[in-house]
Amino acid sequence: MKIIIIANWKMNPLSLVEAKRNFEIIKKGVRDVKQAEVVVCAPFVFLPVLKPSNYLKLGAQDCFLGDKGPFTGEISPQQLKKLGVEYVILGHSERRRYLAESTALVNQKIKAALEAGLKVVFCVGSKAKKPGKEMERQLKEGLKGVKRPDLNKLVFVYEPVWAISTTKNKIIATSKEALKGGLYMRNVLKKIFDKKTAKKTKIIYGGSVNSKNIGSFIKEGKMVGGLPGAASLDPYEFAKIVIQASRS
Ligand code: PEP
Repeated sequence: MKIIIIANWKMNPLSLVEAKRNFEIIKKGVRDVKQAEVVVCAPFVFLPVLKPSNYLKLGAQDCFLGDKGPFTGEISPQQLKKLGVEYVILGHSERRRYLAESTALVNQKIKAALEAGLKVVFCVGSKAKKPGKEMERQLKEGLKGVKRPDLNKLVFVYEPVWAISTTKNKIIATSKEALKGGLYMRNVLKKIFDKKTAKKTKIIYGGSVNSKNIGSFIKEGKMVGGLPGAASLDPYEFAKIVIQASRS
């Protein structure tokens, strides 16, 4: 399976100049890496000006659940698709936490994004130290009505909420914990779909990923890649993550 590394810039950087500069540095840095699918999920305001290429794809960090209409402030998956955006992050714990986004809403967004031809980066994770029921519910409700053949357009992310943006506090998940989270998700996917589908589903890891730990999440954690947030804001570090991942 091809390694997938997805940068989540969140609400950064502050200026278009910086966004363009960082995107171009990443583009140069990952140009020769053929073994990885590399994506930058940038804020909406930068998407029309960042120029994706064969080796650096564009992603958004959210979308609405319909094509067009009177929905003030929203951005539709169709609008993103028309801009050349390929991926969209949905179900991120920060949106669940700060914007009270429910799993039922995430489910509607997932279906709308797939309908528009976008690939979905579906974040799943719990506040508890161990993977458990909360994740099972996110997967079951989040995938309601999603057809088995569409699963290859989804990249699942195991994101233990307690390990997100914690580099300073050093609360980082181990590769063993990532492995457990991934196995738990595959087990739920097996219940929803079947064993074969669950086995070939792409699961990546998110939670304070950097160029030093990505290798262990891939090798020992059996992840097919990572979703770095904070570390992706440094374009040189992000390119390093991609290079390390492709060697793992
Ligand atoms: C994230 O945005 O999903 C994330 C994992 O962020 P960070 O790498 O900063 O923990």
